[in-house]
Amino acid sequence: MKKYSRQRELILNSLRNRMDHPTAEILYLDLKNQMPEIGIATVYRNLAELCESGNIIKIKSKSGPDRYDGNLEPHIHFECNKCHEIYDIEMQSTATKRIENEVRRFTEDIGAEYSNSSIYIDGYCKKCKVLINIAY
Ligand SMILES: [Zn+2]
Ligand SMILES: [Zn+2]
Repeated sequence: MKKYSRQRELILNSLRNRMDHPTAEILYLDLKNQMPEIGIATVYRNLAELCESGNIIKIKSKSGPDRYDGNLEPHIHFECNKCHEIYDIEMQSTATKRIENEVRRFTEDIGAEYSNSSIYIDGYCKKCKVLINIAY
């Protein structure tokens, strides 16, 4: 039980310290350096539990496996269609509240109960936009 908690803590801390929204596999490969005995199944299981307990966020990526985020502050995700990097867009708290209230109202309009929302945008990031403009 103790070992199990230590692994979960390591996964959580590692996610909180990075901004790149890794997949379970990328996270596993990095964690393996610090904890060679860790298995990929353990990483998957702990990520699922951390999502369920609300300690981390799972992001559905358009391009592949789910991505994970330890940043719980309300923010928007932008995924690049070319390099598939996921960027955080921080929002001013007044804007966040306004958007959240609107979404809450839409939810209530269909008679449902709101629990939370996330905003996802895709397009081409600053780096890839330049490359695309050169290519054409
Ligand atoms: Zn890009
Ligand atoms: Zn994020």
